[in-house]
Amino acid sequence: MTSANNGGSGRRGGDAPSHDSTSNGGISFWYARDGIPAPREPLPGDASADVCVVGGGYTGLWTAYYLKKAVPFLNITVLEGKFCGYGASGRNGGWLYNGVAGRDRYAKLHGHESAVRLQQAMNDTVAEVIRVADEEKIDADIHRGGVLEVARTPAQLARLKAFHAVELAFGETDRTLHGARETAERVRVTGAVGSSWTPHGARLHPVKLVKGLAAAVEALGVTIHESTPVTEIKPKHAITPYGTVRAPYILRCTEGFTATLKGARRAWLPMNSSMIATEPLPAEIWDTLGWDGRETLGDMAHTYMYAQRTADDRIALGGRGHPYRYASKAARLGHPSRTEPATIEALRDILVDFFPTTAGVRIDHAWSGVLGVPRDWCATVALDRTTGLGWAGGYVGSGVATTNLAARTLRDLIQQDSGQSGPTDLTTLPWVNHKVRKWEPEPFRWLGVHSMYAAYRTADREESTTSAPESHPIARVANRVSGR
Ligand SMILES: Cc1cc2nc3c(=O)[nH]c(=O)nc-3n(C[C@H](O)[C@H](O)[C@H](O)COP(=O)(O)OP(=O)(O)OC[C@H]3O[C@@H](n4cnc5c(N)ncnc54)[C@H](O)[C@@H]3O)c2cc1C
Repeated sequence: MTSANNGGSGRRGGDAPSHDSTSNGGISFWYARDGIPAPREPLPGDASADVCVVGGGYTGLWTAYYLKKAVPFLNITVLEGKFCGYGASGRNGGWLYNGVAGRDRYAKLHGHESAVRLQQAMNDTVAEVIRVADEEKIDADIHRGGVLEVARTPAQLARLKAFHAVELAFGETDRTLHGARETAERVRVTGAVGSSWTPHGARLHPVKLVKGLAAAVEALGVTIHESTPVTEIKPKHAITPYGTVRAPYILRCTEGFTATLKGARRAWLPMNSSMIATEPLPAEIWDTLGWDGRETLGDMAHTYMYAQRTADDRIALGGRGHPYRYASKAARLGHPSRTEPATIEALRDILVDFFPTTAGVRIDHAWSGVLGVPRDWCATVALDRTTGLGWAGGYVGSGVATTNLAARTLRDLIQQDSGQSGPTDLTTLPWVNHKVRKWEPEPFRWLGVHSMYAAYRTADREESTTSAPESHPIARVANRVSGR
């Protein structure tokens, strides 16, 4: 989800706890129990395919899945630089929800009805992921408790009400607005004065989903090569150190890592998001929190947090941390996923600020990952019919469900291009073949992102000390300048 954290609210008093017992990195907490999966073979040499998918996260795997299901004789090869689930798909907060980055801008560009269709497709996508997981017997700890977003200041409450009204206008008639008491009946977040809840969301275990999906794709007859970084994508060619795959369609599904590819360095900015997972919490603490519905939980801060109650009764909570590394360094495959102690501390501050009874709990794991942010913050799916190059991404942190819609859309675009079908409901959605300008070169990119998050942190701090219902002016300026 499009969350970010406030990099240290300083609201919790007392000495900073030590994090000696916290595992840091190791891809993510989601791999802690079963470890990194055994590697699949790298590409053995030059090869050909009908479709070559670059990247083995949700986007690439869902695309391979739906294409192979639609046309079983297709020869599909997935090339993954590390292992399936190495990227954000193995590190996320497990919010399977109906948010899609850029919907409001698409409404401005293509009309309200067009964006309503996109929103409805996203609502359906949550159910579609659950359906396929069920059909393929992927046990990903899915619990459909909906999404609860809480407000904790007057300015957040005003934003929450405005957000709620907009969501209703985009057809989410089953969304409900709650006051302080009803919010506490779901989750007892300290200081919560209201919330908006939608049924279009579920909690899941990200790695169980990505592993299960890779296995399902392989079982269908798709070839997956791991430890095979693609160094360059050209029309009909995916070039790797082990050989080149030639295919009429090459699909770039590399999201936050896209900046490492020749010709795409300023396409999607690799934005960092960091998470912590607590130890399993005892029943006495859960009694103080409620959260029996296991809703995914977020707030309305400008640098907002996101959290889930895991299947084994931990709290996994995320936010922005160090937002961006100079020259897109975090996009490099193999870049260490360790999280700075200050970020772990900041996330812990949020946890305890939300739930004071967690003050003494151990933080078992901290990790970080990158997500792709386009210059206009709009997710896209595209196929260039003259070159056969396709791509999907720029999900800005709302990708767990969106990747599935993107994949089904890529399937339809390829079927349309190869004459097997005409336009479909999906190929005519407003995010298809959307063009966006590049990010600024350095140092402007670095300066821009850091200034934006400094502004959001200041705005959140100021809003927590006043009763004014308006968003702080500095946040409004940051929104305008950043193009959000
Ligand atoms: C910490 C964090 C929390 C998040 N929480 C949520 C959430 O709760 N809900 C939500 O909706 N979204 C969330 N997101 C976003 C969501 O996880 C992503 O949008 C989604 O996983 C993107 O999937 P993907 O397959 O496009 O990209 P990725 O999962 O990043 O996969 C890209 C793959 O491409 C491979 N690759 C990259 N470059 C190359 C190359 N040159 N050659 C070969 N392979 C390559 C990588 O190794 C990687 O496996 C979160 C993201 C992060 C980082």
